[in-house]
Amino acid sequence: MKYISTRGKAPALSFEEVMLTGLASDGGLYVPEQLPQFSAADIKAMADMDYTELAFRIMSPFVAGDIPEDDFRQLINDAYGQFRHQAITPLVQTGHNEWVLELFHGPTLAFKDVALQLLGRLLDYVLKKRDQKVVVMGATSGDTGSAAIEGCRHCDNVDIFILYPHQRVSEVQRRQMTTVISPNVHTLAVEGNFDDCQNFLKESFADQSFLPEGRQLVAVNSINWARIMAQIVYYFYAATALGAPDRKISFSVPTGNFGDIFAGYLAKQMGLPVARLIIATNANDILHRCISANDHSKKELIHSLSPSMDIMVSSNFERLLFDLYDRDGAAIQGLMDDFKTGSMSLSEDALAKARELFSSHRVDDARTIQVIKEVLAQSEYLADPHTAIGIDAARQTRGSYSGPVVCLSTAHPAKFTDAVERAGYGGVVSLPLHMADLLSREERYTVLPNDLSKVKEYMAKNIRA
Ligand SMILES: *Cc1c(COP(=O)(O)O)cnc(C)c1O
Repeated sequence: MKYISTRGKAPALSFEEVMLTGLASDGGLYVPEQLPQFSAADIKAMADMDYTELAFRIMSPFVAGDIPEDDFRQLINDAYGQFRHQAITPLVQTGHNEWVLELFHGPTLAFKDVALQLLGRLLDYVLKKRDQKVVVMGATSGDTGSAAIEGCRHCDNVDIFILYPHQRVSEVQRRQMTTVISPNVHTLAVEGNFDDCQNFLKESFADQSFLPEGRQLVAVNSINWARIMAQIVYYFYAATALGAPDRKISFSVPTGNFGDIFAGYLAKQMGLPVARLIIATNANDILHRCISANDHSKKELIHSLSPSMDIMVSSNFERLLFDLYDRDGAAIQGLMDDFKTGSMSLSEDALAKARELFSSHRVDDARTIQVIKEVLAQSEYLADPHTAIGIDAARQTRGSYSGPVVCLSTAHPAKFTDAVERAGYGGVVSLPLHMADLLSREERYTVLPNDLSKVKEYMAKNIRA
């Protein structure tokens, strides 16, 4: 399988190269040159597969030519062997024709584990084969950092450095990073805010001369194609469990960078009968404004009770735009040039296509708390704030689809206690058993001044030979 850039100018790359590359050299994002197609008969057969068999079936065309089948099967089994639920991503019914797909049974209690457990193993596998070592660098305001650390902690050929704003992440989030004690894991508390961390990251990727000879930085944020690929699987898993291909299923997705819901779009393009994809946003609603009013403009960041969706711009949206503009890289380059001013509008044709596929809805903090209460009262289901936003969006857009809807549950409620406490259930939610001792585990992290040269110095000194 070959991958091409959304801006049409970078060279086509293999899966392996794309995984190690991040952004394309023309500034675009990599997407598969063509998608594997599954017939109704293929999809029918999927209903009998367990999660790992299905994962192999869905993903193997994307790695074909790079990873032999038996090795890939083993990597999948290892990755999902870390999950604490036999179904990996179980469905729970919350209402008539309404289900929640729990994606939080991995090591860090958020959906990012589904992709990062696999990505860590894929990286290690590919690097060993190439006899190469890399440095993973990331900035986090919460979930991504811990999921990346858990994904890479056992990777012999990876040193991982995660930057987070000192004293500005929750205790559970901090401890999920700092209690991973491994010689290749470095958690760096920067005395600045999240933007500072992200700027350090950008500048470090732009000038990698501080690294030892022969090393390069690898990004594990959601622009990494391997993450999107892993997320396609659970759309098939949920839909076949609920009657696909004979029934069309809709999905409501709490959306930040558009990685998760883009995987749902790909599932549909690969043959899964998806009726509607619902973009659920918090007050950071650029995508809701884009779909409902053709207003794709940057607004100031709002800190919400669903912090993992606090974004100003959704980086993966460009991958959808590429398809909406018939894969015309020059058109995407033009749009992105327009967007440098802070706003852009879609062509009538692109907007119409987007509206055929997607509904959207915005849920603010007050409403999020109300929905957490509502769902608990109706069905004794305690949703985390991100999940609650997905559930509300599914309910509020009911007119745009019919039949079953699956709301993706992206985090365990114990991870976001602020919202759960404000809903009045602070006392009843506790960490799952495997993490019950999190608050007493040994922590290890390094506090660094808000100074990029100090960060680079620390990294250079701590990268293993
Ligand atoms: C990352 C994250 C999201 C947003 O996913 P995107 O792929 O960025 O749209 C939603 N909920 C939680 C809990 C997350 O960690």
